[in-house]
Amino acid sequence: MNQHCCEWMDSFLQDDSINIHYDEVLREYYVIIDECAAVQCIFYCPWCGVKLPASLRDVYFGLIWEKYGDDVDVDCELLPIEMRSSAWWKNRKEIITELLEKYHNASEGIKGRCLMLKTMNSAIS
Ligand SMILES: [Zn+2]
Repeated sequence: MNQHCCEWMDSFLQDDSINIHYDEVLREYYVIIDECAAVQCIFYCPWCGVKLPASLRDVYFGLIWEKYGDDVDVDCELLPIEMRSSAWWKNRKEIITELLEKYHNASEGIKGRCLMLKTMNSAIS
């Protein structure tokens, strides 16, 4: 069974020579545009054409800011282990649609929705 939408996506995500990446915490697929920091989220699989699952960026930051305030460092080790992997959304799978509605646009203005800057560390991981 494929971990992502198709065997090509599974395979190319493992291949460092192919410019496609997956952020399991935010459930985002992206390509790196700039050697340093610019990334472009992708919304459809380039190989099988399926619409990829919605990014959970808004929900993630919405939950964190609600609990810890909006100046918390998201790389902070004070965040529970669950929030540092895909566990946080896998554990909330049955209410993820509700959460997507609740926190829609929560991160607007602070994190661009399509073109955003990330540190090289998070782009590589
Ligand atoms: Zn695919």
